[in-house]
Amino acid sequence: MPSIIVIGSSNTDMIIQLDRIPRPGETILGGEFSTAAGGKGANQAVGAARAGGKVTFVARVGRDMFGDQAVAGFQRDGIVTDFVFRDQSAPSGVALIFVAKDGENSIAVAGGANSKLSPADVRKAKRAIAGASAVVMQLETPLETVQAAAEIAAKAGVRVILNPAPARPLPDSLLKLVSILTPNETEAELLTGIKVTDDTSAAQAADKLLAKGVQAVILTLGARGAFVATKESKQLVPGFKVKAVDTTAAGDVFNGALAVALSEGRSLLEAARFASAAAAISVTRLGAQPSAPMRKEIEKVLKTGR
Ligand code: ADP
Repeated sequence: MPSIIVIGSSNTDMIIQLDRIPRPGETILGGEFSTAAGGKGANQAVGAARAGGKVTFVARVGRDMFGDQAVAGFQRDGIVTDFVFRDQSAPSGVALIFVAKDGENSIAVAGGANSKLSPADVRKAKRAIAGASAVVMQLETPLETVQAAAEIAAKAGVRVILNPAPARPLPDSLLKLVSILTPNETEAELLTGIKVTDDTSAAQAADKLLAKGVQAVILTLGARGAFVATKESKQLVPGFKVKAVDTTAAGDVFNGALAVALSEGRSLLEAARFASAAAAISVTRLGAQPSAPMRKEIEKVLKTGR
């Protein structure tokens, strides 16, 4: 089983579905409440574990009920939680989400303990990182922590997969340590200034990132699929046709599954296809972590094409 280290955020999503999103100062009755485990880092860890990886998650949650529930959830998925630190003072990360009937949403995030995940935390996991086949990260935890982890991994020759979400500018000192960068269209535009509308603009955006020292770029394009680019080759891996119910965490499931497939020795293109299959299944289901598919389900889609 390939060993994968995911470093990043864990949140509890608290969702109210209502007719429409309340305006400032307004109270709307009649909502329906649900909670789901979320946070990009945790979603990617669960995505990788269900796709067949031996996953160690490096994160920070609070000493509260949400933290307990998050850790219990990771353990149910067989994720190693030795480096899920419990913060003394900060609460666990929470996202308050309104979802309107027409599918529109409005989200407020309180990062809490996520914003205290530090370079020192990551250094505690140094040996696990150096022995892993891939490190997977996103940007919901401090950038200096991402940088520190990338340095440890790169020095040990471990592949670094960075999902640059949520979108923010990144220093060249980080980009040059990245083996595979996986922006969506919005993130690619913010990082390169190039609006990705077709294969030509996708290739231009990818080239700009490759020039900064990233070894490979996989641009995720929603239902269209993923554009896989290295200096040597560029190719679209088409998405699988599914009936989309909820695209939350599609990108996270993609990244988790990608790390597993690459660690098993698949080529970049094969790994992108495996990841696309996993992500396509996830969009047919509600919620973030609940929607991540198991290995068997991914293999079935790969075999049958649907
Ligand atoms: P993000 O969720 O980060 O914005 P995308 O929307 O690009 O990322 O989705 C990530 C991946 O999930 C895509 O590359 C694709 O493989 C898959 N995906 C997303 N939406 C769909 C969809 N409607 N149908 C099939 N696959 C999808």
